[in-house]
Amino acid sequence: ARPPLPLLLLLLLANVAVLTFPEPLLPGAFARDAPEGYVPQDGDVAGSAWSVLTGVGLTDCLTLANITTLTGASGRAYDEERRVLSNFSEAWPTAIAYPASVAQVSAAVICAARHHVPVHPRCGNHANEGETVSTGALTLDLRNMSSVTLEDGNRLARIQGGSTVGNAIGSIQLATNYTRTVVGGQRPTVGWGGYALGGGFGALTRYAGLASDNMVSLTAVMADGKVVNVDAGSGAADLLWALRGGGGGNVAAVVEFVVRTVEVPVVNMLHYDPGTEPTSDTAAVLAALFIRLDNRITMRYDGSGLPDFEISANDIGIDIEGLCVGTTAECIDAMIEAGFQDDGNVSNIL
Ligand SMILES: Cc1cc2nc3c(=O)[nH]c(=O)nc-3n(C[C@H](O)[C@H](O)[C@H](O)COP(=O)(O)OP(=O)(O)OC[C@H]3O[C@@H](n4cnc5c(N)ncnc54)[C@H](O)[C@@H]3O)c2cc1C
Repeated sequence: ARPPLPLLLLLLLANVAVLTFPEPLLPGAFARDAPEGYVPQDGDVAGSAWSVLTGVGLTDCLTLANITTLTGASGRAYDEERRVLSNFSEAWPTAIAYPASVAQVSAAVICAARHHVPVHPRCGNHANEGETVSTGALTLDLRNMSSVTLEDGNRLARIQGGSTVGNAIGSIQLATNYTRTVVGGQRPTVGWGGYALGGGFGALTRYAGLASDNMVSLTAVMADGKVVNVDAGSGAADLLWALRGGGGGNVAAVVEFVVRTVEVPVVNMLHYDPGTEPTSDTAAVLAALFIRLDNRITMRYDGSGLPDFEISANDIGIDIEGLCVGTTAECIDAMIEAGFQDDGNVSNIL
């Protein structure tokens, strides 16, 4: 049914109003002061620039803050950059921004908040469900913030929020002549951000804990753009607790992690292939063996039944690999003590 004439006119006028006065065409109209507590850094966003930033469209806002940004108009680059690891997830974010400083991360978050656009920080882009890209949201890609520096006699590492696990481990090992490292995961391309914020299980975990156990302090940008430094004594215990394993992308954009490094005088990679096919008991039997291992050894059983191509395309048997802090002899002794057979065949145990 047709709406009555006055209502029709009202609807038409409403449309004209929307079409004629879109927000982005009114720079400065929504200007406001920086939120209380906001600390401009590196001179990127300061004082008078603030009102300009908050008065324009999202993309202009990001551009005014000098943040490299891709949108649908960027064509192929945007199309490639919106891809995630999972083939089951596809989305078209409003923009993908590449901040290069803490101040730019803060500015990007404020730009997005001003436009009610959700923000997804992105580090290594290894989220299984594509959590860093969603239609209508802003992807905050932190790859330009990936420096790793050491301090306190190499006992602490400052890892920026866009570093990969491989970059963090590689930089620390290189700088310490391979005497120190951090608890890193299995694949170097995984982002330190998502890995560590989700707990971070690695080949040194039984020896030195999870990545999150080794987080000493963090610098994070909160939803209102505030930059906060969090450590055990900062009075933000809840925030530190949430960021130590609560999962990435939920609470804040973490721009820097301060992490304890681990001394690793001698390390051996272990690979154990009993030469048997897995059975339904294999995982339980191995779990019982693993738990008896000296905590210098962390081992992993791949029960997927898929070949491990790093070893051989034909390797579809029981595949156990791990890391041991100790000499080869010490590591083998520890394995035998836990119940592994030294002839390389555990079939009698299974
Ligand atoms: C091949 C592969 C191997 C893996 N191996 C291991 C392993 O050995 N050990 C292990 O524990 N896990 C492992 N994982 C799981 C991996 O740690 C998680 O998938 C992790 O979330 C990926 O982080 P990312 O930064 O690469 O991904 P992204 O897709 O960039 O981010 C993942 C999530 O974290 C958020 N996030 C990322 N960076 C930040 C930041 N700086 N601040 C705030 N939020 C952030 C994102 O918003 C998103 O929600 C593996 C995953 C894959 C695909």
